[in-house]
Amino acid sequence: MKALDELTFDNRFALLGDAFSTQVLPEPIAEPRLVVASESAMALIDLDPAEAQTPIFAEIFAGHKLWQEADPRAMVYSGHQFGGYSPRLGDGRGLLLGEVVNDAGEHWDLHLKGAGQTPYSRMGDGRAVLRSSIREFLASEALQALGIPSSRALCVIGSSTPVWREKRESAAMLLRMAQSHVRFGHFEYFYYTRQPEQQQLLIDHVLTLHYPDCADAEQPYLAMFRAIVERNAELIARWQAYGFCHGVMNTDNMSILGITFDFGPFAFLDDFDAHFICNHSDDSGRYSYSNQVPIAHWNLSALAQALTPFIEVEALKEALGLFLPLYEAQYLDLMRRRLGFTTAETDDKQLIERLLKLMQPGAVDYTLFFRRLGDQPVSEALNLVRDDFVDLAGFDQWALDYQARCTREPGNADGRRERMHAVNPLYILRNYLAQRAIEAAERGDYSEVRQLHEVLRRPFEEQPGMEAYAERPPEWGKHLEISCSS
Ligand code: AMP
Ligand code: MG
Repeated sequence: MKALDELTFDNRFALLGDAFSTQVLPEPIAEPRLVVASESAMALIDLDPAEAQTPIFAEIFAGHKLWQEADPRAMVYSGHQFGGYSPRLGDGRGLLLGEVVNDAGEHWDLHLKGAGQTPYSRMGDGRAVLRSSIREFLASEALQALGIPSSRALCVIGSSTPVWREKRESAAMLLRMAQSHVRFGHFEYFYYTRQPEQQQLLIDHVLTLHYPDCADAEQPYLAMFRAIVERNAELIARWQAYGFCHGVMNTDNMSILGITFDFGPFAFLDDFDAHFICNHSDDSGRYSYSNQVPIAHWNLSALAQALTPFIEVEALKEALGLFLPLYEAQYLDLMRRRLGFTTAETDDKQLIERLLKLMQPGAVDYTLFFRRLGDQPVSEALNLVRDDFVDLAGFDQWALDYQARCTREPGNADGRRERMHAVNPLYILRNYLAQRAIEAAERGDYSEVRQLHEVLRRPFEEQPGMEAYAERPPEWGKHLEISCSS
């Protein structure tokens, strides 16, 4: 375990040069204080958890101090926002401080979000508010615990620096970690600004550092694009299976690694609703829950367009064609497991679709449905969940078919409960839970954020005394308006 001053840096992205990023120093926020830190994220860079309690920890991650070996930079990128192309975005309020190498030789980007203005801030103040920093922190760590690949969060540091949004709020900084901060939008930027040499450097950077297995393929760039398609298919399958809504799937928010990235107005479904829109600013529902699948495909097409100087169009199209079938297979596999199946039958897809259709008009809590279904032997469980459905006749027919399907499982009910509980979380990051923790934190009480983070680290395990975190949301908690302005 290391102290903060023992970290080793190897800033590979910075070496790409000034066409890719601009050196900018963080602008500190006043009276820094630790809101919350993630021990498991600290472990990724071998950082001793005790370091989080030292004053220097809060000072570093509030922009007051910096390692000598760090090379803080704002990256330039562009992207399609809500379907329209924005030619120049970039890190407007975040800095890549540097890349830390851990003892296993893995590199982790340290990215400080809310670090002040940069050449890419446009009209923005370069700040992040406490509210959105806490939300990103909790979601990063909760997604990870659910087995959904995501950027990680090391800590949130609060401050007394005022920030103006709809009202006066306080500035915070979030230390985000990922193995790369390269987005689809990076490739779009160099493509649309016609900088082929820089684009070549970028594609080789990503290939050698992040897709080394593809480097030996006959067509390395194509192999890499295929791998990106595969990872995205797997990621979106997990989002859909667990009811995660990203909220702003612009191409500048899509990671080249296929991890959940740059989420602001995200939500997990409470009651199942295929048309749920979590982002209050998303008037047309472009990024609604069920649209995430076609939008991910659309985003991959935008990336493919940017790669046309390097890969044949026909080959790109063929690779894009892999997305939907791969997504479907992964999604079906997850949903089968959520229903307690260990085998695959052709009719499973229909059984799942029928279930979701029946859930739609009722007030069926998407997370608790699966948890309760696994809690008891099949017929008792079905009785238990039945009341939340509106079309009871439809549900009863489904229940008969589900029960029959369960009896065709080899070993029948053996280990069913453990098996289902291992994939069906009891605790998820509901918007109202985050909201309660944020309101306490805004009053200076960070205990609720820390407690919620603790609970969400082990979402599949029953945690005695934590029953309140597994309850359905109160009515107010289902209608929180979360927008992009953060
Ligand atoms: P986001 O919606 O957070 O993905 O941000 C979209 C773009 O706006 C990115 O280029 C951000 O860096 C930039 N941005 C968002 N908020 C701010 C802010 N408060 N100050 C400066 N730039 C910002
Ligand atoms: Mg963004």
